[in-house]
Amino acid sequence: MGNFKSAQVDVTTSETQRTYTAEDAFELELPTRVLSLTEANNWLAMIAETEGIDSPLVFKSTMSKNYDALALPSDWCIAVRKSKMTQLLLLHEMAHLLCVNKNHGPEFRNELVRLVRHHISFPHAAALHKAYTDNNLTLISFSIISKN
Ligand SMILES: [Zn+2]
Repeated sequence: MGNFKSAQVDVTTSETQRTYTAEDAFELELPTRVLSLTEANNWLAMIAETEGIDSPLVFKSTMSKNYDALALPSDWCIAVRKSKMTQLLLLHEMAHLLCVNKNHGPEFRNELVRLVRHHISFPHAAALHKAYTDNNLTLISFSIISKN
């Protein structure tokens, strides 16, 4: 019965919603650091240099309460609703900037786990990968991501 019930949930819950659920569970299990706007910009500038890309600008903006942040690929910016934000939130939006597909599909998940692995820590990346697979979200195996 338990399996049948969770299978029903997975059919009716969107990929985006399951992505948020997985990331919330991950953030509870292994929190990432909370940064100020200045720290966020400095951190992303360091990441951009390592990744060989232009540094995106993080700025505070009024936005719908449904969002804590929004990636703006054409302006290479990340808009955030609050002046404090987690590293996970920043890398989530960074993954949107770097991915061709602007959704929460497998390309996005692979990219976010890779970014977390390189710029936060190996245990964080392993926990995020597990949170995704626990929510029936597919992505490439962690051993492949961690070698990239
Ligand atoms: Zn997103």
